[in-house]
Amino acid sequence: MKDEIPFNRISLTGKETGYLERAIRNGKLSGNGEFTRACQQWLERRYGFTRAFLTTSCTDALEMAALLCDLNPGDEVIVPSFTFPSTANAFLLRGARVVLADTEADRPNLSIREVERLITPRTRAVVPVHYAGISCDMEPLLDLAESANLKVVEDCAHSLDGFYRESPLGSLGHFGAFSFHDTKSVTCGEGGALTLNSESLVARAEIHWEKGTNRMAFLRGEIDEYQWVGMGSSYLPSELVAAFLLGQLEGIDPIQLDREGQWDRYYVGLRSLEERECIALPSVPSYARQNGHLFYLTCRSPEERRNLTAYLRKGGITVQPHYSPLHLSPNLGETSRQFPNSEKFGGQLLRLPLYRGLEGGQIDRIVHRIEEYYRSDLA
Ligand SMILES: *Cc1c(COP(=O)(O)O)cnc(C)c1O
Repeated sequence: MKDEIPFNRISLTGKETGYLERAIRNGKLSGNGEFTRACQQWLERRYGFTRAFLTTSCTDALEMAALLCDLNPGDEVIVPSFTFPSTANAFLLRGARVVLADTEADRPNLSIREVERLITPRTRAVVPVHYAGISCDMEPLLDLAESANLKVVEDCAHSLDGFYRESPLGSLGHFGAFSFHDTKSVTCGEGGALTLNSESLVARAEIHWEKGTNRMAFLRGEIDEYQWVGMGSSYLPSELVAAFLLGQLEGIDPIQLDREGQWDRYYVGLRSLEERECIALPSVPSYARQNGHLFYLTCRSPEERRNLTAYLRKGGITVQPHYSPLHLSPNLGETSRQFPNSEKFGGQLLRLPLYRGLEGGQIDRIVHRIEEYYRSDLA
């Protein structure tokens, strides 16, 4: 048996252990300490966010954003069907109605034409998910949002270091929600960040973040004691998590260089199969600068995806589908409308291994194995 190629592995920058030791020596591990602030400042400085709050996950960041959207029962939030359940749960938890939208035909990103059709007088927010770090079409979306007075919550789980034209993803809407889960490019196991792009909601965000208290103002010496002043929850990660994350963030440039090189190698290697119309490759619009977060191809049918997956598995290569569209879920099933594009990507999209340390030779082996499949009788 040849070497196994796993789907994902974490990679260390070499700075994590030293920072973890320093966090332990600091003698205080609860959140909002030296490392939490350093991570937040790193995000603010590098990407120009007004404020960043570390959270224990992207799920939490989305929940904070939903709190800040001030939703009432019956309010509607437009969310793509092709996404992770957290994108929808955050708003359901606030009593809002989640209105699912189909994606574009040629990429699994929110279709702006769909959003336009779905806006009603009850719509309060829209959630573009920049799938694979490839930006949604933000200019028309922001125009629509402005004219209908909607909050824009960018689900940036895939989007660290991705761009829409010159703007970093997460800096275009009102909020950006980032993930540092194991499967994302920069990780601390479980972690996330909420970013804000105007001062107006910062004071409230501080309260939600600190369990509904004004502890942040207390820590700055603005008040003598802190109190319960609003809604909130426990969204802060511990300093151990933040210390590990800072080690990752500070090593982002080599991580990104490596990932983008791998992405390009897959793209070039698989192009002839796309020309033969065996598979479709990611379509990256000219306004988007993708970040090498994940590489996917789209098969011609769900059955072909199953067979190709099994063929790669036999060659020691682990590949993964991605989301099961939310409109097909037992929780929020929707049968009255059609979502042809979400169903295509749900049934036919396949993610290939991509992580720092995956070697060029291994990518070539994966590409050859896919070519072999399409040369064989199996296809
Ligand atoms: C991974 C992911 C999330 C959830 O991230 P966590 O940090 O695990 O909560 C949310 N949205 C999308 C699009 C994701 O891929």
